[in-house]
Amino acid sequence: TNIVVAIDGYSSCGKSTLAKALAKKLHFIYVDSGAMYRAVTLYLLRNNIDLKDEEAVKAVLPDIHLNFHSRDYQTHILLNDEEVSDEIRLMPVSSNVSAVSAIRAVRLEMVKQQQRMGKSKNVVMDGRDIGTAVFPHAPVKLFMTADPKVRAERRYKELLPNNPDITLEEVFENIAHRDYSDTTRKESPLIRAEDATILDNTNLTPDEQLQFALDKVQP
Ligand code: C5P
Repeated sequence: TNIVVAIDGYSSCGKSTLAKALAKKLHFIYVDSGAMYRAVTLYLLRNNIDLKDEEAVKAVLPDIHLNFHSRDYQTHILLNDEEVSDEIRLMPVSSNVSAVSAIRAVRLEMVKQQQRMGKSKNVVMDGRDIGTAVFPHAPVKLFMTADPKVRAERRYKELLPNNPDITLEEVFENIAHRDYSDTTRKESPLIRAEDATILDNTNLTPDEQLQFALDKVQP
């Protein structure tokens, strides 16, 4: 039977860096669940759907087709056959994705698709609710945290090449805002699953994190 490794945690904690490295090492499929919420957000913004109008959002969900094509363990996500992997990282999406991910109908649809992806294959999936709502029985669960200032600095360096006008303050605010709405929303708020192991990577290198995770998968 197949194995699911669930990696949850706050925004910009290095979840995807670890998840990719782990998937590569184990020859598992990597699924970036945040990219799915981001792609839905992009669709809604492009089509001027009012994000506060749940019914309007629900009505267009069947028009949104998401696909991953995996190459080199990076996230390549297709929104209705268009590659949007770069565009979903830009500020308009980042500033609106928490609102979209708080919508019940959106979560139900994403969770359904994510469960399908982990049903027959070995996957490493990262997100906010993978160990709690998507795969509550995953055999390996990690919950990642790191100092918010360190997270903002890491994300700032990552975003700067594509967003030359961005400021560190803005990135910090965005992270703080997403932490707040992710942990306080009604639908599957971000919390640590009881059986998830905490991984605080404030002072850990990527290699040390990978080793920590590998020890959990293959004790
Ligand atoms: O992981 P990433 O930061 O790209 O996720 C973007 C946003 O999508 C998060 O801030 C969160 O609001 C939402 N999300 C979620 N559940 C997941 C993954 C992401 O609500 N499993």
